[in-house]
Amino acid sequence: MATRLDGKVVSKRILSELQQTVTGLAQQGVTPTLAVILVGSDPASQVYVRNKQRRAEEIGVRSLMFKLPEETSQKTLLAKVAELNQDPDVDGILVQLPLPKQLDERVVINSIDPDKDVDGFSPVSVGRLWTNEPTVVASTPYGIMALLDAYQIDVTGKRVVIVGRSNIVGRPLAGLMVNHDATVTIAHSKTRDLKALTREADILVVAIGVPHFIGADAVKPGATVIDVGISRGADGKLHGDVDADAVEPVAGALTPVPGGVGPMTIASLMAQTVELAKRRLHG
Ligand code: NDP
Repeated sequence: MATRLDGKVVSKRILSELQQTVTGLAQQGVTPTLAVILVGSDPASQVYVRNKQRRAEEIGVRSLMFKLPEETSQKTLLAKVAELNQDPDVDGILVQLPLPKQLDERVVINSIDPDKDVDGFSPVSVGRLWTNEPTVVASTPYGIMALLDAYQIDVTGKRVVIVGRSNIVGRPLAGLMVNHDATVTIAHSKTRDLKALTREADILVVAIGVPHFIGADAVKPGATVIDVGISRGADGKLHGDVDADAVEPVAGALTPVPGGVGPMTIASLMAQTVELAKRRLHG
């Protein structure tokens, strides 16, 4: 039976360590501060933002929430970002995506000061990642690396296959894996003979959003399987991209959905906010 890579347990531990760090920073006069901009009233975004705020408050990170109306113009949004870029008390800036249609996501993300780009989505952050310089990286890939690390699963020299090439999961994870000396293949919807490829993986990461896409026949015996996907089924339950019941007897380790990668994502956002605050103190 596969080892359960428990993101709930690991993220709790990380958050409690962060809380201590935050207390230490506060004693030195620095309160880590995350500014969150939410434009419009997308229900899923509201839930995500609320969860981020709640976690921040729990560990003593100050979260500043800016709710802008659906019809906000590009100029207004850019002005808000510019104001936060200038604010010396703000460590991290996050613009919740997706944005309403009239706004150009690329332009908005590019306008965030790369040293405050806590989501790691800006081209400067991505460039730093791929040149293996210190940088903030997207929270989900960061969380996946932290989860592997917590279970002492070393990626060095391992064959890693990542299914999904989005800017928020697949691509940045590939960069992190390469930086940690893994041998990486990125697969996507145009990949031929995907199963043959995934069966070669020592570490298989699936981030596509297709429930139960990966069955036992797509997994090498003993492999570590990271299930990033979250889809809500007709039954109202959350489903991953991996058919956990089928894969569990084959894999060496597996993340549950929910309770695997999800909780690690928010903990990683907090970890990187605190990291940015430390830079404020130490330069
Ligand atoms: P995107 O829709 O941006 O990207 C999906 C990727 O999967 C694309 O690269 C696409 O290929 C590929 N893909 C889709 N169908 C197939 C297929 N049948 N075979 C092979 N590749 C396929 O998704 P995200 O990266 O944003 O999210 C992926 C999943 O992860 C979602 O379920 C999302 O909810 C979840 N997620 C979970 C997070 C967490 O914290 N747990 C955080 C972020 C996302 P192509 O590029 O060719 O179109």
